[in-house]
Amino acid sequence: MTRIDLENLDLGGAKPNRSAVARVRGWAREVWELGEGDSVVVTELECGEPGCPPLETVILIAAEARPTVQHKLHLAARDVRREHLVTLHIKESDA
Ligand SMILES: [Zn+2]
Repeated sequence: MTRIDLENLDLGGAKPNRSAVARVRGWAREVWELGEGDSVVVTELECGEPGCPPLETVILIAAEARPTVQHKLHLAARDVRREHLVTLHIKESDA
C-alpha cells in the first residue's frame, strides 16, 4: 500500500512560514488526537476577500476513522493560536 506523504506536499500557496505552519500542524495533531496513520495538512494561502488579512491558514484533517474535514482561519499561520484550533474542534463536535 502506498501512502502519499500529504504533510510534505507542496500545494503551491503563498511563500509559507514553515516554522509557524509546523507549529500549527503539531497543535492540530494534539487537539484532534491524531495517530500515525492520520494526516494534517496546513497551508498558508493569500486571501483576496475584502476585510480579510492578506494570509489565511487552511487546516485539513485527514483521519482514518472519520470523514476528512477542512477548516479555514482568516489569520496568517504565525497568528494562529492553539486556542483557535481548540475552538474549531469543539464546533466540529457540536455540528
Ligand atoms: Zn479570507
